[in-house]
Amino acid sequence: MDFTLTLEQKMFKATARIFAEMEIAPRIDDMETTRRTPRDLIKKMRDLNLYGIQYPEIYGGVGSSFLEYSMVLEELSRVYCSIGGHISVNALCTGTIYEFGTEAQRQEFLPHLIRGKAIGSFAFTEPDTGSDPRAIRTTAVCDGNEWVINGNKIFITNSTLPGYMVVFCRDVEISGQITCIVVPKNCKGYSIGKYYDKLGMHGMEVADVFFDDVRVPFENTIGGEEARGRGFNILTQEIAGGKLGISAQCVGMAQAALDEAVRYARTRTQRGKPISNFQTIQWIIGEMAAEVEAARYLTYATADAKSQDSPILVESARTRLFSSQVAHRAASNAMQVMGAYGYTREFHIERIFRDMKLSELYEGVNEIQRIISASALLR
Ligand SMILES: Cc1cc2nc3c(=O)[nH]c(=O)nc-3n(C[C@H](O)[C@H](O)[C@H](O)COP(=O)(O)OP(=O)(O)OC[C@H]3O[C@@H](n4cnc5c(N)ncnc54)[C@H](O)[C@@H]3O)c2cc1C
Repeated sequence: MDFTLTLEQKMFKATARIFAEMEIAPRIDDMETTRRTPRDLIKKMRDLNLYGIQYPEIYGGVGSSFLEYSMVLEELSRVYCSIGGHISVNALCTGTIYEFGTEAQRQEFLPHLIRGKAIGSFAFTEPDTGSDPRAIRTTAVCDGNEWVINGNKIFITNSTLPGYMVVFCRDVEISGQITCIVVPKNCKGYSIGKYYDKLGMHGMEVADVFFDDVRVPFENTIGGEEARGRGFNILTQEIAGGKLGISAQCVGMAQAALDEAVRYARTRTQRGKPISNFQTIQWIIGEMAAEVEAARYLTYATADAKSQDSPILVESARTRLFSSQVAHRAASNAMQVMGAYGYTREFHIERIFRDMKLSELYEGVNEIQRIISASALLR
C-alpha cells in the first residue's frame, strides 16, 4: 500500500490546517467558555464544503474519499477536537442516509446536510443503554402513512442544532426489532433536555432528546419498508465509519500533544540547558513520535479500506482502540514533559488531556472494541 500523499491530498490537508489555524484557533477560548458550536463557524465550514468531502458531487459533496475526509478531521482536531467531533457525528447521520437510504431519501436529505443548513445527529443511546441495542426503549408505531415515535435519547451530539436526526427505535409491529427513521429536529413533539456539562469537548454540543408523539412520514424509514428491523445492522456498520472519524481525531490530538511537547522541550531550560538535552525527555518524545505515526497510518489504512467499500467492522474497532490509547498516552506524556506548566490552562495540553478521554468512551467503549477485535480471532 502506497501512502505517499497525492498533490490533491496534500492540498486537502493544507487547506484544513490553514482553516483550523485561521478560523477555529481564535475561537477556542470563546467555545471553551460558552460551550457552544458557533453558528457562523458552521457557515464557514459549510462554505468550504467540510461536511461533504466523502460524498458524491450529485448530492453537493466534494466527491473525494474517506482518506481525504480522515486527513481533514485530523487537521481540524489537531487545533480543536470538538470541531472534528461535530463534523464526525454529522457524518454519522449523512452516512446512514447515503449508505442505507433509498435514492429518494438521498436526494431529499443529503443536499441539506452537505451544503444546506441542516446539521445531522445520530441517536442510539438511551438511559438504559449505550452499548446494548436490545435495551432500546424508544418506540415507533405505524399509524396510517406515518410513524409515531415516543421515548428518550441521551447524550446526543448536535441535537441542539437544526437539521435531521437518524433515530434507532423499537419497531413495535415487528416484535420490537430495531428500525432506523429520519426525524427533522424541528418537528412537533421533539424537544431538548439539558445540555451536558462535560469534562471536555466543550465546542461540541451534547444534550438529551425527548420524542413525545413525534409524527414523521413512513417514507422516512431508512432503506424503505424492506429495511424495517435492520436497524442494528445499520447501526454497527455506520458506527464502524464513525470510529474511523474518532481515530482521525485521535491522530490530530496526539500530533498536537507531540508538537506542544517538542516546542516546550526546546525552550524550557534546567541546569543551564534545554530539557530536550535530557535523555529522559528524548525517550518520551521519541516514543510518542513513533506511536503517532503508527496511529496515523493505521487510520489511513482503515480509511482506504472504507473508500474501497471493504468491510471495516473489525479494522475500525482495532484502529479506534489503538489510536485512542495513543492519544491518551500522548496527552499524558506531553504533560509530563511540560511539568507543572502543562497542568495549567496556559498551554493547550491541559485541554487536549480533557478532550481525548471521550475517544475511549463514545460510539462504544474501548472494552467493546477489544471484544470486536478478539471475536474475529476467537469465534
Ligand atoms: C460527549 C458524548 C457524546 C455522545 N454522543 C452520542 C451521540 O451523538 N449519539 C449517541 O447515540 N450516543 C452518544 N453518546 C453516548 C455514547 O456513545 C455512550 O455513552 C457509549 O457508547 C457508552 O455507553 P454507556 O455510557 O451506556 O456505557 P455502558 O455500556 O454502560 O458501559 C459502562 C462500562 O461497562 C463496561 N461494559 C459495558 N458493556 C460491556 C460489554 N458488553 N462487555 C464488557 N464490558 C462492558 C465497560 O467497561 C464500560 O466502560 C455520547 C456520549 C458522550 C459522553
